[in-house]
Amino acid sequence: MNWTLVGASTIAAQYMIDAIRAVGGGEIRRVVSGAPDHAEAYARTHGIPLSGTDLGEALADPEVGAVYISSTNEKHLTQAMAAIRAGKHVLCEKPLAMTPDDARQMVQAAEAAGVVFATNHHLRCSGSHQTIREMIDTGRIGRVLSLRIHHAVALPDNLQTWRINAADSGGGVIPDITVHDADVVRFLTGEDPVRVTAIMAASGMGQGVEDSAMSVWALPSGAMVMSHESFTHPFAGTGIEVHGTEGSIFARDVMTQRPIGTIELVTGAGREAVPFPDHNLYEYGVRRFVEATEGRGTPAATGWDGVQSLTIAHAVREAAQTGQTITIVYGD
Ligand code: NDP
Repeated sequence: MNWTLVGASTIAAQYMIDAIRAVGGGEIRRVVSGAPDHAEAYARTHGIPLSGTDLGEALADPEVGAVYISSTNEKHLTQAMAAIRAGKHVLCEKPLAMTPDDARQMVQAAEAAGVVFATNHHLRCSGSHQTIREMIDTGRIGRVLSLRIHHAVALPDNLQTWRINAADSGGGVIPDITVHDADVVRFLTGEDPVRVTAIMAASGMGQGVEDSAMSVWALPSGAMVMSHESFTHPFAGTGIEVHGTEGSIFARDVMTQRPIGTIELVTGAGREAVPFPDHNLYEYGVRRFVEATEGRGTPAATGWDGVQSLTIAHAVREAAQTGQTITIVYGD
C-alpha cells in the first residue's frame, strides 16, 4: 500500500517516514504541504518522488491507499474528511482535531466510508507501556489505587513555534502532551476518567497558551491519577508510577519517543528490575495500522481512542480555565 504524507512536519521527518519504509509493502509517493517551496525541499531531502500543495490532486492518485496526517492540529479535520471521502485509510496525528466533536465527526465518517482510521498515540506502542499493562492485568500489583505521571520536558528549540504561541493551531501543552497521557491512562487501566480538576500556567515559554499543567483525575474504579505536563522542565525527567494494593511499578524515562527507560516492581518480596521489549514505537504503530487495512486486527490506537484522549484533554483545560471540577461527558 502506497502512502501520501499530508503535512511536511518534524515528526514525519524524525520518525514516521523511516517507520513507514521499515514496515514496507509500499512507498511514500507524495508529500502535501501548504508551502510549495517547503514541500519541494522536504520531498527532495526525504527521497519522496512527488510534492505539492494540492490535497485534491494527491487524493485523486489511485495508487495511494493510505494518508498520514501530521499537519498542525487545526488542519486535521478538513484534511482527514477529504481523505476519507476519497476512500483512503487515515493515520492521523494527535490531537485528532481542535474539539472532541470534530474528532468524532472524523471517526464516524471513516466508519461510514469503511476505511481504517487510526490515531498516532505512540506511547501505547512501546514495550515499556505494554509490559506495565501486562503487569497490571496479571495482578502483579493487586488492585490499582493510583497513577502518577511525570511528563514535564524541555520543548526542543526547533519545536518552539506554533505549539507555544498559536492557540488557533492547537498550541499548548494540554493538546500536545496531556492528550498522550490521557491515552496512557486509558491503555494501562482500561478505564475512562470520569472527573478532573486542574491548574495550568505559562511558566516562561507559552505566549497566549499554557506551557504547563497539573491535573487530578478520578477513574470509575475509584483509582486516582496525578498528571504533570510541561514544555519548560529541562531536568525533570519523565516517568509513570502505578501503585496498587500489592505492589508499585516505577517506570523512569518511558514517556518518550524511543524504546528506552527502566521499570522496577516493588512488592513485599522486595525490588526487581523488569525487562521489556525494545522495538521501535512508531514502526509498531504503522505495522498495526497496515495490518488493519489488510483486515488483520485493529490499529494500536483507533480513531475512538483519539476521540477519548482528546475529550479528557479538553476536560483538563476546561477544569483549569474555570477552576471547577469537570465531569467528563464522552458523547456517543
Ligand atoms: P511541525 O511544526 O514540524 O510541522 C507542522 C507543520 O508546520 C508542517 O506540517 C508544515 O505545514 C509547517 N512547517 C513546518 N516547517 C515548515 C517550514 N520550514 N516552512 C513552511 N512550513 C513549515 O510539527 P510537528 O511535527 O511537531 O507536529 C505535527 C503534528 O504531529 C501535530 O499534530 C503534533 O501534535 C503531532 N505530533 C505527534 C507526535 C507523536 O509522537 N505522536 C510527536 C510530535 C508531533 P504543512 O502542513 O503546510 O506542510
